[in-house]
Amino acid sequence: MYYNNDTVIYFNGEFVKAADAKMDLYSQSLHYGYAVFEGIKSYETANGTRIFKAKEHYDRLRHSAQVMQMPFDISTEEMTKLTYEVLEKNNFTNAYIRPVIFCSPNMSLSKGRESYLTIVAWEWTNGYLANKMRLMTSSFARPNPGAFHIDAKVSGHYVNSILACQEAKDKGFDEAILLDANGFVAEGPGANVFIEKNGVLYTPPKGNILPGITRATVLEICDELNFAVQEKLFTAEEMREADAAFYCGTAAEIVALESLDNSVFKKDWEESLGYIIQQAYQHKVLEKDFRLQQQLA
Ligand code: PMP
Repeated sequence: MYYNNDTVIYFNGEFVKAADAKMDLYSQSLHYGYAVFEGIKSYETANGTRIFKAKEHYDRLRHSAQVMQMPFDISTEEMTKLTYEVLEKNNFTNAYIRPVIFCSPNMSLSKGRESYLTIVAWEWTNGYLANKMRLMTSSFARPNPGAFHIDAKVSGHYVNSILACQEAKDKGFDEAILLDANGFVAEGPGANVFIEKNGVLYTPPKGNILPGITRATVLEICDELNFAVQEKLFTAEEMREADAAFYCGTAAEIVALESLDNSVFKKDWEESLGYIIQQAYQHKVLEKDFRLQQQLA
């Protein structure tokens, strides 16, 4: 359950009970997947409840609305403030936050006439961290960047993610990895990917992926820790030969990958660069100094 009778959400200019909020069945967003959204997390830190990378997420939400030509003019600062209010009203600390911008009733295939912002949240602590995921190469390709604004987080794009994820689960895997339209590894249904080979990390460059905020954070961590990392295309075959690999995303954080198409990565996760990045990421979201902690340890 995502909400109960007491849960408060922000909905189109006011705070209302989640149970009372209604969406129009004639919304263009429902019929055509024409909505944009974000997935954000807040953490209980020593400095209080903090939304991780709120600016980056709300800037991306605004970008998504803009490229999809939805009328929308709420600032990043205002949306951040509204989100803290949602958290406070529900007494949430560790939470997953889902802002969605959707459009008014309209059956025509034209840009949105009116848009509504809703911000919902639910309590959530990470459950993936201990699990190493077994991936399969999906038979579904990622959306072609010639057909979609793939750097935007658009609801309709996630039909592709559902197909890939369900296919993997039906075949006994934990998760899928999708290739781009040219056959190179792109990303997971809801996460970016890094592989490690001979002490160097590789991640697909921007162009065929959703450029994740966690991916950018991982690049930041690599820079801080002096880890060699390259944004470079690679194939599924090259990935199967990798020493180690991980997924990264706001919800998943840093998740160890065990295998791709049943080829097990050679290194123990605990020996990989990803493992250190996983610790560093935990420190960052909790606003702790990672290097200092390491020196003290
Ligand atoms: N790729 C896809 C397709 C996603 O849905 C997500 C999750 N938003 C990501 C990558 C990771 O993005 P972020 O780190 O910004 O959550």
